[in-house]
Amino acid sequence: MEKTKIILDENEMPKKWYNVLPDLPTPLEPPLDPRTKEPLTPEALEPIFPKELIKQEMSDKRYIDIPEEVLEVYRLWRPSPLYRAHMLEKVLKTSAKIYYKYEGVSPSGSHKSNTSIAQAYYNMKEGTERITTETGAGQWGSALSLACNYYDIECKVYMVRSSFYQKPYRKSLMNIWGATVVPSPSSDTEFGRRILKEQPDTPGTLGIAISEAVEDAVAHDNTKYALGSVLNHVVLHQTIIGTESKKQLEQEDTYPDIVIGCCGGGSNLGGIGLEYIKDKLEGTYDPRVIAVEPSSCPSLTKGEFRYDYGDTAEMTPMLKMYTLGHTHVPPAIHAGGLRYHGDSPIISKLHAEGLMEAVSYDQKEVFEAAVQFARTEGIIPAPESSHAIRCAVDEALKCKKTGEEKTILFNLSGHGHFDMTAYDKYFEEMV
Ligand SMILES: *Cc1c(COP(=O)(O)O)cnc(C)c1O
Repeated sequence: MEKTKIILDENEMPKKWYNVLPDLPTPLEPPLDPRTKEPLTPEALEPIFPKELIKQEMSDKRYIDIPEEVLEVYRLWRPSPLYRAHMLEKVLKTSAKIYYKYEGVSPSGSHKSNTSIAQAYYNMKEGTERITTETGAGQWGSALSLACNYYDIECKVYMVRSSFYQKPYRKSLMNIWGATVVPSPSSDTEFGRRILKEQPDTPGTLGIAISEAVEDAVAHDNTKYALGSVLNHVVLHQTIIGTESKKQLEQEDTYPDIVIGCCGGGSNLGGIGLEYIKDKLEGTYDPRVIAVEPSSCPSLTKGEFRYDYGDTAEMTPMLKMYTLGHTHVPPAIHAGGLRYHGDSPIISKLHAEGLMEAVSYDQKEVFEAAVQFARTEGIIPAPESSHAIRCAVDEALKCKKTGEEKTILFNLSGHGHFDMTAYDKYFEEMV
């Protein structure tokens, strides 16, 4: 009988992260100092990140050992399950096989814990007493709150104002795990106070919240800053998703023809995809890898590939990436985790080199797929993850026409249990 749930034993959990940097066809362009526009030295990043993470950000080692203390926390929910979407396949009447890797089993409900645990651990090792961060929809803030709680680090979260009021339960999670949360723009930073004065009614943006969190970290002793996506070390920590998925598909004697992930800053996409990109670069396999973004924040499909700032106040290093511009304010869509003006430099490079495709979808067609998925597979997907579902369904429908038996793998990056308002709005036809 064909399996529905493909699980790995705890002792089969990968013990290394895969670093794609040395395998890239051309090297990544270096981050630039925002003032001098010169390439950044590692030392310049030390006020905001611990040394070990800076090392990983620029590492040329192909594999990096996952510390035992990190594996110990990962074991709470990893290895995560891989599902064969039998019920969805049946309803679609497709000849394709659809598999999804489910990252919603982590305590905070998304893939973000894979990096928050690692980042908090390295900070603890180097004596950090307090970490600041920003959060959009709240998934990153809650993942980091949990991680800081494990390693006895204080956590201060600048939460984009519109989400602070629209998603109160995400804030509750952060409070339960011991973090302090303020709406951004806030009166706790100079930049926040300036924005509040100039635009008292702003709903806030990730770019503004990042500026506040960085300013706070630089201004306080023993305080560092943590980012939940975009950077190389974040993408690195997510590669455990793809490595596990490959072992699971091997149990099924299959290899994906198509690998799909939704793309905000690119970390879960890199997480599921880089393991397979590695095979493409080695020439052993040639799967299609597809990034899916909202058509209202189309950085890969419509943005420019150039140097840009990561935040609104121009305080962060400049990164070479696909960007809509650092002052761009995307509309307040329900997939808040995909509302970022830029993209990971790794993902951007792969897209520019033709190694990764990108597509975009409107909210309405994304929710249609989300509801179809919930009614077949049972799991209620996060609006972000539902972008990947939409694309997987469309690829499966193409196979139905041609009769091809392709294997499709997508990453289900999180559950949507805190996104009920978004689903309600969809049913009221307000999406
Ligand atoms: C944050 C988030 C995303 C988008 O971030 P990436 O870095 O692009 O992965 C996607 N899905 C969920 C569930 C998220 O919480």
